[in-house]
Amino acid sequence: TKYVYDFSEGHKGLKDLLGGKGANLCEMVRLGLPVPPGFIISTEACRVYLRDGKPPVSLEAEVDEHLSALERSMGRKLGDPANPLLVSVRSGGKFSMPGMMETVLNVGLTDASVVGLAATSGNERFAWDSYRRLIQMFGKTVCGVPSFPHDDKADPRELVTRYKEIFREHTGRDFPQDPREQLDMATAAVFDSWNTERAIIYRRQERIPADLGTAVSIVAMVFGNLSADSGTGVAFTRDPSTGHRGIYGDYLANAQGEDVVAGIRNTVQLDKMPAQCFAELKTIMSTLESNYRDLCDIEFTVERGKLWMLQTRVGKRTAAAAFTIACHLVEEGIIDMDEALRRVSGGRLAQLMFPRFDDSERPEPLASGVGASPGAAVGKVVFTSAAAVAAKQPVILVRRETNPDDLPGMIASQGILTSRGGKTSHAAVVARGMGKTCVCGADSIVVGEDSFVVGETTVREGDVISIDGTTGKVYLGEIPVSASPVVQYFDGTIDAEADPLVTAVDKLMRHADGVRRLKVRTNADTGEDAARARRFGAQGVGLTRTEHMFLGDRRPLIERLVLATSATEQRAALDALLPLQRKDFADIFRAMQGLPVTIRLIDPPLHEFLPPLEELAVKVATGEGDEHDKELLGAVRRMHEQNPMLGLRGVRLGLVIPGLFEMQVRAIVQAYLEVPGSQPEIMVPLVGAVQELEAVRSAATAIMVDEGLEHHLPVGTMIEVPRAALTAGQIAHAADFFSFGTNDLTQMGWGFSRDDVEGTFFARYLELGIFGVSPFETLDRDGIGRLVRLAVDEGRAVKPDLKIGVCGEHGGDPESVHFFHTSGLDYVSCSPFRVPIARLEAGRAVV
Ligand code: ADP
Ligand code: MG
Ligand code: MG
Repeated sequence: TKYVYDFSEGHKGLKDLLGGKGANLCEMVRLGLPVPPGFIISTEACRVYLRDGKPPVSLEAEVDEHLSALERSMGRKLGDPANPLLVSVRSGGKFSMPGMMETVLNVGLTDASVVGLAATSGNERFAWDSYRRLIQMFGKTVCGVPSFPHDDKADPRELVTRYKEIFREHTGRDFPQDPREQLDMATAAVFDSWNTERAIIYRRQERIPADLGTAVSIVAMVFGNLSADSGTGVAFTRDPSTGHRGIYGDYLANAQGEDVVAGIRNTVQLDKMPAQCFAELKTIMSTLESNYRDLCDIEFTVERGKLWMLQTRVGKRTAAAAFTIACHLVEEGIIDMDEALRRVSGGRLAQLMFPRFDDSERPEPLASGVGASPGAAVGKVVFTSAAAVAAKQPVILVRRETNPDDLPGMIASQGILTSRGGKTSHAAVVARGMGKTCVCGADSIVVGEDSFVVGETTVREGDVISIDGTTGKVYLGEIPVSASPVVQYFDGTIDAEADPLVTAVDKLMRHADGVRRLKVRTNADTGEDAARARRFGAQGVGLTRTEHMFLGDRRPLIERLVLATSATEQRAALDALLPLQRKDFADIFRAMQGLPVTIRLIDPPLHEFLPPLEELAVKVATGEGDEHDKELLGAVRRMHEQNPMLGLRGVRLGLVIPGLFEMQVRAIVQAYLEVPGSQPEIMVPLVGAVQELEAVRSAATAIMVDEGLEHHLPVGTMIEVPRAALTAGQIAHAADFFSFGTNDLTQMGWGFSRDDVEGTFFARYLELGIFGVSPFETLDRDGIGRLVRLAVDEGRAVKPDLKIGVCGEHGGDPESVHFFHTSGLDYVSCSPFRVPIARLEAGRAVV
């Protein structure tokens, strides 16, 4: 295998092999730009090194050969005492990981060659300062010397003596005086830097594979720290934070590369660099933009009035810049709309939809946790769901952790703060679904009954806090927030021309809508949610969770149903619920007139509607409870299940208490008759066998007949029990449609409970790479995805036109949306706030 490549041998398409930095250096050489000569050791060599603990055997000879060629072209030898060549040894993997790995500059300087450098440059101070920098960088990155005391005023020559002593103290050896040994040690250190802790953390965050390795670019040094007409800088071809046109950058005279980033001295604008160089830089920038057809960022150095290009890449940018730049490039005729759509993403759009704290000064945070659901929320602290619901003003619900009982309170609050749990905890998942700000796992806070404590500070109920769901920071007091213009646009309160960013978003959304095949529906339990989602572009409701309609002040009615000891009592309880349900459904139908609305019959175990066992038991035991509580306690005990998620729920409950489903179906039919243009679809949860569905179906049909319907409403099923996926061919005979419940399908397919795994083994599993990402966040294609495909294939084999959708968290997850597109689904359904994200991604799945 060949491990070393000259700059003239590569191009920008070889990032896998040469790393992004290396491949782009080659590309610039190909474009005829002024790049100091050099060569690249491939990522393949790094992978061998990381596997075997030593470089491949043939590497040394190859480096020798390329180094000789470099020396010949420069007319200087590495570290030559009379006229030394110096090089930089630079890291760079396939994906840019800014600042995560190591680079060593000025390799080749020794006690002997520093004298030569002083002589050839005619600048003694510069030569010794460069040597000082080498010992410092080499010491730190190659040999792990923790720090060298910095002293700007000191004579660099004295600093070299001091630094060499520090080097010896820490490493037990002298600073290497063999230039080639320096080069090899620096190369190995760059390889090793692939696995520094911060690199590992960064890769996990950015989902960069852990086994790619880094390339090493060896580049002849050019010096920005040589004279007043030397310097170094960074530049962007457009503004990376807003995306606006116009070059943008910083320059530092008489300095070496890393000084700009380190922020030691104040930089100046690019037009302060030597005029000739500035003009040349502008030309180069437009060459780069038309070559890469995108925003480029650039590192350059000026040595005695001569411009050198040291790096370029397609630049990182904010979400706002991503949308703006994509549209500008289309206007400029550089890319087409399909390409523009590829360059933005649902994740980016989500960032533009969260409200934000004004970026004026922020105080010291009070605590910090996991930024679980982005956004900015301010409110008075409350500690119970009931208090949140009762509050007539903005509140932040603070809990140790949340559970389904807290849902009304979560809906009522501006934001949620928990002291336990991570990104897939109940609080996090629910909050993201609702587009509600959430910080979870802020473990420095101790949550009590009516206050929480952080160190010395006690925050009481009613005190105001601000939480930042992006950074996970918690602040005492109010920090001003502003609503995102993108949301105002989706909501219809501003129009597309109001703001240039919104104009760009609008354009890309229209294109996505124009090309996508997948429809996007919403999950909505109220008319209000449905109406909002419709403004956000929802093409119907894919899931109405009827159980949410039984909470709050309707709880007593459910309790009556559960406590009923005779058929008459049961009927009375159901009769009381019927008109309420009818109104619930009619409200949603009205909001979605002309579009389909899928209503799921009641799903969770009944005990979820009753008070917790322990609470009741204590109440009764202490004599506080009345007769009703005693009765309730009996019922709760009777219904207690070891594993309620796998117990009496969904269709099972419907078949055991038939009146319940029948009441719901009747309410749906009556609401349908009441609201013209409504298109209800009745969905049965938790079906595992076709017989279950047939039983519900015939009961539903009887009710439709009874209510005098001419055309029967569609009755379909969730596919969420693995057995349903496996027998989809049978179930399809009794189903008018399928809707995948991927949350339950994931939970039952893997055999772990979504609500319990977070704090126990998920972190470990992510660390071990058993998951790249939680399967509750992004659908697990290999496993659960197979069940999905199987059910689609077998269902459609029986009914080629079977309508198939998905409801649940995954319906709004960008990666999962692509999977559902390729699996041939008709629609995805997600929470209102994710509707635009799913629309965009459904378009991206096509282009
Ligand atoms: P990073 O990936 O952290 O930016 P680089 O490899 O780009 O690391 O190098 C760090 C700094 O050193 C940059 O400012 C770069 O421009 C500068 N640099 C790298 N190689 C050379 C060189 N051959 N001559 C002058 N400066 C260089
Ligand atoms: Mg760089
Ligand atoms: Mg389910």
